[in-house]
Amino acid sequence: MSDPTPALADPAVDGAAPAAEPAPEAAVTEILARVQAPEGQGRAIRDAATGDVVGRAPEHTVDDLDAAIARAKAAQPAWDALGHEERSRLLLEAADRIDAAAEALARLLSREQGKPLNGPNARFEVGACSAWLRTAATTVLEPQVVVDDGEVHAELVYRAVGVVGAIGPWNWPMMIAVWQIAPALRMGNTVVVKPSEYTPLSVLALLDVLNQVLPADVLIGISGDREVGARLSSHPDIDKVMFTGSTATGRKIIESSAGNLARLTLELGGNDAGIVLPDADPQAIAEGLFWGAFINTGQTCAALKRLYVHDSIYEDVVSALGALAQQIPMGRGLDEQNVLGPLQNRQQFDIVSRLVEDAKARGGRVVAGGEPAPELGELFYRATIIADVEDGIALVDEEQFGPALPIIRYSDVDDAVASANRLDVGLGASVWSSDREQAREVAARIQAGTVWINSHGGVHPMIPFGGVKGSGYGLEFGVEGLKAVSVPQVING
Ligand code: NAD
Repeated sequence: MSDPTPALADPAVDGAAPAAEPAPEAAVTEILARVQAPEGQGRAIRDAATGDVVGRAPEHTVDDLDAAIARAKAAQPAWDALGHEERSRLLLEAADRIDAAAEALARLLSREQGKPLNGPNARFEVGACSAWLRTAATTVLEPQVVVDDGEVHAELVYRAVGVVGAIGPWNWPMMIAVWQIAPALRMGNTVVVKPSEYTPLSVLALLDVLNQVLPADVLIGISGDREVGARLSSHPDIDKVMFTGSTATGRKIIESSAGNLARLTLELGGNDAGIVLPDADPQAIAEGLFWGAFINTGQTCAALKRLYVHDSIYEDVVSALGALAQQIPMGRGLDEQNVLGPLQNRQQFDIVSRLVEDAKARGGRVVAGGEPAPELGELFYRATIIADVEDGIALVDEEQFGPALPIIRYSDVDDAVASANRLDVGLGASVWSSDREQAREVAARIQAGTVWINSHGGVHPMIPFGGVKGSGYGLEFGVEGLKAVSVPQVING
């Protein structure tokens, strides 16, 4: 990816491959040989599209984790002492290494996670990793003079926290790992990473590439289960936890932090609403709405998960989205033409199936999809648009985290705003209108960490990102993101 600041809502959706020739599979095999468990050991990780074994994840234990934290703690003072300039240089070199290994990383990610190589998917995700790393490496968090009145001179400076524990989900495993790792390393912390048990190999491969340039023990990956995650967040030598995952796990991490007083950044689940105002042009917004909802086959934290459309243009929006859902190619990620893939795991497939069946039973109108796609593979579910549903049904009220969008009709914008705000989550939201000022007025009334206008879900390495209510707290990205992995210190005098 040449653009250093990719926006997730601005995908190349034409299915064209950015690389003319896929890198040889040998490069994937080489990385796997370095990161996976020795022959006969570890847990088999299966290709989400085909069920074939991709590799074997090491099964690290709580004892392995304790040893890793001890090493990261011992390495931290020297890493901090290197200073910003040298750390920045190393992180930029690490970003170059990601670019050099991009095709192999994307192919491994595509198999393990299921996402296609093309569209806003695997190659896009790997490109975002180097872009975010470069931005973190070059962003400066200046000391802030808070009082300078001739008698008192006080400055707020930002120091490393110590050892950061990074715990991630399976939907954007590499990119979210970099979101956590890059600012933490930049500020002089060392990091222990615990990837999701569904997608450990992609993250271990990424760390392997980064570790080609980083000093020993500055960045350590531990491939373990929930018990290992729980130990990481409660460990006495962990000073900060960067967590991205479900709200339920976020609550457990908050409880753990009562013990070790670890600082927390919690990026949790969402159920983002979109509100289409009566003056919007259905044809002009259809593609933006579609990708807002279906990016990464709907398995995205800040995806559009329930759409409120004004009565006057309801049918036009519904049919435009239905047409797109039927024509966007879905299938195995390594096939270059696909831009939608499978659900990553059986549990998520079952959630999507249950929610769609329930919506159908309650009178929802299936405009597209509405059923699995078994001819493509066990975990494929057709891109689904369900119209004529209301607040209160499970597909609207629960996070589907998959390719199924409910569309709700409204006639009074106050009701649509009340609907957007009625759930106990608030990660993102969007307002769609031909009148930007009017859209901004509606946006100001919505309880969400980000409200987009005429797009949904775009993130940028310099624009702070975080949730409110049950979607968590703390900000990532840009200068605010650097503050989040630092401790403020006042120098007075
Ligand atoms: P999850 O909470 O089940 O798991 C996330 C991680 O937490 C995994 O690595 C898991 O092993 C670990 N974990 C489990 N129990 C733990 C414990 N007690 N202590 C510490 N760690 C523990 O989430 P998931 O199913 O992997 O991800 C899907 C969820 O993540 C969705 O709700 C989605 O909206 C959310 N998400 C949010 C964002 C965001 O930026 N806000 C981004 C991506 C995903």
